[in-house]
Amino acid sequence: MRILVIEDERKVASFIKNGLEEERYIVESAPDGESGLDIALNNHFDAIVLDVMLPKKDGFSVLKELRSAGKVTPVLMLTARGTTEDRVTGLDLGADDYLPKPFHFEELAARLRSIMRRSSTEKSTKLTCADLVLDTVSHVAFRWGKEIELTTKEYALLEYLIRNKSRIVSRSMITQHVWKHNFDTESNIIDVYIKRLRSKIEKVGHPKILQSIRGVGYRMREVSPDDTEQIEDYSEDDS
Ligand code: CA
Repeated sequence: MRILVIEDERKVASFIKNGLEEERYIVESAPDGESGLDIALNNHFDAIVLDVMLPKKDGFSVLKELRSAGKVTPVLMLTARGTTEDRVTGLDLGADDYLPKPFHFEELAARLRSIMRRSSTEKSTKLTCADLVLDTVSHVAFRWGKEIELTTKEYALLEYLIRNKSRIVSRSMITQHVWKHNFDTESNIIDVYIKRLRSKIEKVGHPKILQSIRGVGYRMREVSPDDTEQIEDYSEDDS
């Protein structure tokens, strides 16, 4: 699960980020409203933590623009203590919940889980590609009727690839969505993860669903059972 934290107070931002990372979320953060909105509009997040008082663009404007652009990502607003007006404004603009500052991390985490649960019941909770099924609530993958054991990172990578099914995703897209913006794109960690993922979701003799597009990136694709491009081995990734 990916969460975006838009908060200008560095201490608060890292307090939230560290806490969420400990709970195995993938966290991006933005220090002002303008960059936060830009990141939110161009990426998929499962939830956004949005402060009201922000430089460049305040939280209400960010929320308003997000919703008018059709983004339904659940939003938890951080409001100043005792400002009823702020809470009402936020909820009217489409915030899913609010949390007055200061707060305990446990409460923030509980509210985030709650808004993510709420939103996931409205949309489909299953993603599929061929006979691979991903349950986005329980974070479990199935293929050939069997559960596939995945680490948090492998799951995040697979979910991203399936959400972008039939599209080629480059290494830098994967980096931005599954790792962090400042992640070293020169490292071969993505290839290592892809290889590991492949060994779990594919089988020799079955149609290939995760393709390597040499020099460009990767693509998940739908296949029919009689597809001719079958898995032979994984050596093409060793380039
Ligand atoms: Ca602030």
